[in-house]
Amino acid sequence: MGRAQGEAMAEGIGAALRFYARLAKGGEGAMAAASVPFIDTARSSVPHLVEEMAGLAEGAGIAFEEAAILNCMEEVWTFETCTSMSHGPFLLHAEQWYAGHDSVGVVIAEPDGGPAFVSPTCAGFLPAVGMNASGFAQGIDSLTASDDRIGTPRVAISRLALGAADLAGAIAAATLPGRAGGYAHFLMSGECSVVVETTATTHNAIEGADAHTNHYLADPAVPVGPASRGSKARLERARNLLENEPPSSLEDCARLLGDHDARPESICVHEDGLEGSATVFAMACDVTTGRMLVSDGSPCLARWNEFEVPGFVARNARVG
Ligand SMILES: [Zn+2]
Repeated sequence: MGRAQGEAMAEGIGAALRFYARLAKGGEGAMAAASVPFIDTARSSVPHLVEEMAGLAEGAGIAFEEAAILNCMEEVWTFETCTSMSHGPFLLHAEQWYAGHDSVGVVIAEPDGGPAFVSPTCAGFLPAVGMNASGFAQGIDSLTASDDRIGTPRVAISRLALGAADLAGAIAAATLPGRAGGYAHFLMSGECSVVVETTATTHNAIEGADAHTNHYLADPAVPVGPASRGSKARLERARNLLENEPPSSLEDCARLLGDHDARPESICVHEDGLEGSATVFAMACDVTTGRMLVSDGSPCLARWNEFEVPGFVARNARVG
């Protein structure tokens, strides 16, 4: 695993590394050094995913240490990213990331010994969001808490959950002991919708949540900072959209994901500058059919492409 992804996205991976070298004033050497303890942890907790990073590096023609930098980014920098929503059979996700790392691709994986999955991702990152053939989809929203520590990198945890045998396995993966920090895993099948909010050492499951951004909705047992204005604005707007313009098709979802009507930060973000953020892609999944739309760039402007998860097994249909 990883090699084909590295080959297909080699150009974007090279551009991403050049961007992060500009962003991190200490240069690539400092970033590589910072990622070492996280990768060392991953070697014992999720060795097959360290192998996947090595495959990615080989395919892209870069050093392993460079692939490690990309996959420990959220351990080294704090950056608020992403909005997820659900309505009826649909999971909607806007992937907010550095505007300077906007090269994206879609991984269609059919691994040995596990269900197939389809995952749009920024070039060089292990697959994190997407839909799995066992019948569930996952959106990921960043979170930060006071117990962040050296541990298994967040991206590896989200990759583990995305490739799980089923939804229960994804929840177990999201709460893997020894993780470096937290995420909101927005997990949804035809049977249930649950947001698993984690910190490095605690977790809460929220059933039936309609939307999530970058602050904790359930009070974790460790101190966390206040919600940012941007995260609160996106959450409020997402709930508003679902209430006033509830989607009845994937195409409706695509339209909601290109929304700009929130201040100071919209669901589809366009910022300038080295540290500016952008919604680099968005996805809309139907967890009853395995059909997915992915925008090839900003959801308001880009072309949306359709994908189907190979061998998708639908779970009992929810009442939409
Ligand atoms: Zn836009």
